[in-house]
Parts: sequence; structure tokens; C-alpha cells
Amino acid sequence: MTLLVENPAGLDHLTPPGHPERVERLEEINEALSAPEFDSLTRMIAPMASESALLLGHPQDYIDHVRARIPESGMAGLDPDTWASPGSWEAALRGVGGCLAAVDAVLAGTHRNAFVATRPPGHHAERDRAMGFCLFSNVAIAARHALEVHGLSRVAVVDFDVHHGNGTQDVLWNEPRALFISSQQIPLYPGTGAASERGGSNNVLNLPLPPGSGGIEMRRVYQAQAFDRLRGWQPELILISAGFDAHVDDPLANLAWTEEDFAWLTRSLCDIADEVCAGRVVSTLEGGYDLPALAASVAVHVTELKERGA
Ligand SMILES: [Zn+2]
Repeated sequence: MTLLVENPAGLDHLTPPGHPERVERLEEINEALSAPEFDSLTRMIAPMASESALLLGHPQDYIDHVRARIPESGMAGLDPDTWASPGSWEAALRGVGGCLAAVDAVLAGTHRNAFVATRPPGHHAERDRAMGFCLFSNVAIAARHALEVHGLSRVAVVDFDVHHGNGTQDVLWNEPRALFISSQQIPLYPGTGAASERGGSNNVLNLPLPPGSGGIEMRRVYQAQAFDRLRGWQPELILISAGFDAHVDDPLANLAWTEEDFAWLTRSLCDIADEVCAGRVVSTLEGGYDLPALAASVAVHVTELKERGA
């Protein structure tokens, strides 16, 4: 079975007019996943994460800083790109909590895999710094939850968002039980993600992709560098930071992936999960800013998960 974790509170996280990371992203995804072919998904509303869960990724003073910046009305900037509105605290905590609940369900065996449809995204949030539309490092916290709370020995995070997952990398840099694999367009925001960044214990693999490259180059790079590394790690759980802004139609980047490329990559990661960890995959939404491309890409991604979860 495949679990769909929904975060309606994500609709109350507001950003200024014209901001690409907007409420309509989640509305479009919810609409796409309400199609009859997704009726077989188990659905749950993301619960609030506890503060102790946030501490798996961030120090207390950063958590206090974010909470203090949440405005009582209007919007407040956490950095030039990253905004908070009165609903952002609940949206962000339910985003983290949704990831943790998905990990709990997949490790309990009630579901083979899961997708967490949430905003704000998380992979740019560093240990002590909000940036890139992200408040808390959702997927890195989920990885550490699997290690610390469930006692796993090894987890892997694969981030195929077009931007480098600098926040996830920062949180997991000194976590030798977590392998972080991230593909990204280089050069592009946030400027990190070179192949020379390898983690505190050679536990990070960065896969730079040149502007203009498409699915052929992506498949070549993943097949040559990522898949054997992932298999060899023997993770007990694979987490995916699923950003869909490498799509050819996306306005924030210059890669040329199609829905079929996202389907291929999802299938390939599920194949490896089948081999090494009984199919256990937890995928969480990150970016994706062309609304039709985002909705279509999420639909093919969840379709692949659903077919594996059946
Ligand atoms: Zn992105």
C-alpha cells in the first residue's frame, strides 16, 4: 500500500504576490491527486511535529528564532527569498510531522511507500539558517528520526530537485549512518553541490548537471554514479527529496527533464529499494514551479509509487 500524507495547513503558508513558492502549487497537486486513479491511496493528514523532533535537525536557538519571526499578521522575511505568515508555523511543523508519520508507517510495514505533499519545502534549510523558501529541513529530520527513534543503522536520501539540497547536506554532513545523494544544475542557486563536497565521512555524493541537459544526461549520470553507490550502502530506508523543477517547463532553472524522466527515476529508485530494503521509500515534495508541469510530474511520481505499493 502507498500512503499519501496531505498537509492542508500548507495552504495557510503565504508568500508575497509573484513569489514562485505559492499556495497554488499545493492546490494543483491536491487536484491532480484527487483523480480516480489515486483512490486506492491511503490518505492521512500530517500531524504536528514535536519540538524535540525539530531538534533532530536544528539547534534550539534556531527553532526559537523561526518561531519569533512568525508574524501575527501579514508576512515577515526570514531571508530575501524565504517568508513566513501567521500560518507558517503550523504548516512547517505539520510538514515535518508528515515526514515523520510517513517514516513511522513505512517502517511499521503498514505501507510499502509514502508520498508527503507539503509546503513549505525543506531541503535548503540548514541547521541554523532558513533559506530558499525553506524553514525546517524536513527530509534530513526524517532521516535522523529513522536512525535515532527507530534505531536503523543506515538510511539514504536521494534529492533530485534541480537545486542543490544544501540544507539536507548540512544536517547530514556529520551523520555517518546517512548517505546523501543530490543531483542539481550547476551553476544555479544556492551555489553549492560540487562533486568535491563529499561529507564528513564520504557520505555525500553530489551529481552536478550542466544547464540545458535533459533526461539522457540525467539517466547517464545516475546509472554511472548513483545507483551502485546507493545499492552498496545497503540502506534500510530510502528517502526522496522530490523536487520537480528540473522539468523543461520550469521557470527557475534550465534543465530539460520530462514527466517520463521523473517516472524513470522513481522506478529506478523503487527497483533499488526492492533489492535492498523491502521497497521502503518515503518521498517528500520539494520544489517545482510551473503548475501544470508540477501537477503532471507529481502524478507520474505517485503513480510509480502506487504501482510498487500495490
Ligand atoms: Zn528546487
